[in-house]
Amino acid sequence: MRPSLSSRASQAFFTPRHELKNRLSGTLTLEARAESYLHIWSGRTHVELDLSGIRPDMPRNELMEALERRAADLAKKAIIEPAELVRYGGELIIPGSSLKGAVRARLELLGKRAGVCFVMQRRPSYRPRRGQHGWRHYALWHDAVEPPRRVACGSCVICDLFGSPGKCSRVFFGNFKLKGALEDWIDELQLDYGERIRAIKLGAVFEGEISFLGLEPEELGLLAFGMRLHEGKPILIGKNKYRRRIRQDTGEELIFGRLLLRAVELRLAPWCKKLAEELAKEASVSLTLAQEGEELVLSGEALAKLLGHLVEKAKQAYKGFNYEFDDIAELEAIWREGRGQGA
Ligand SMILES: [Zn+2]
Repeated sequence: MRPSLSSRASQAFFTPRHELKNRLSGTLTLEARAESYLHIWSGRTHVELDLSGIRPDMPRNELMEALERRAADLAKKAIIEPAELVRYGGELIIPGSSLKGAVRARLELLGKRAGVCFVMQRRPSYRPRRGQHGWRHYALWHDAVEPPRRVACGSCVICDLFGSPGKCSRVFFGNFKLKGALEDWIDELQLDYGERIRAIKLGAVFEGEISFLGLEPEELGLLAFGMRLHEGKPILIGKNKYRRRIRQDTGEELIFGRLLLRAVELRLAPWCKKLAEELAKEASVSLTLAQEGEELVLSGEALAKLLGHLVEKAKQAYKGFNYEFDDIAELEAIWREGRGQGA
């Protein structure tokens, strides 16, 4: 049985993965622009373990001591060596998985009242005070993360869209590739706390695709809302997104982690024609149909209008999401409060 529309965000059933009829399948091409420095870390640094002077036949206690010393050296070096950005086949990318994670987390945090689950990474009793590890995230999202929810429920609209253990996703984020020459868009920065990183510069533009399978129009709308496509405002992503850092050589304050996503083109599978035409009519835009039996294509102003319409449909279908929340404005308010308190 299908629950009422207003409770659909925490639905009791799961969309069959093969259900494509009267649903939207296709590809959304997006442009992603760095509105600040970006540090989407590969999780790797360039360090080499120096094993010279260590022999397997050393007495056990000597070996332990030597290894401990090397480990300590390595830990020190890991902070000094620049943290690497992610490359794929020689190109600088924003990994699709990072973007998907950021959008999913944003929707989970904004969907608390809609009954959406949120997977806690740290122990549920952790409530950092100002200055403690993770306090900015807590200050920004405390309403959303209390009370703590520990696991992907597997039955809310976000799990249904993005997948959960045992249920595949219906949205697929490809890697976003840098447009232009890599060396023009990377800065090596010496930051406070002795951290040295390579970061993507403000103004860098990436392009990539998101594919989706069997989405209800309001689900595509929810996805657009999660990426702020209808607002023209950036999402937060990567390392240091919640904290300002100080550039050691200039003393300049740096902001990280703002990525503005813009829809460039929507291509829908030919079998979505009937539903797509209905939606286009509702949004008063016209679809381009290359030829009979081919993909439906939408771009520019018409696409912006259609996405705006789909977000409105999401607002009707999924009550309880905090559609008005502006992460960036809230974060800046937290920063303002923190001024003078060493934050
Ligand atoms: Zn869930």
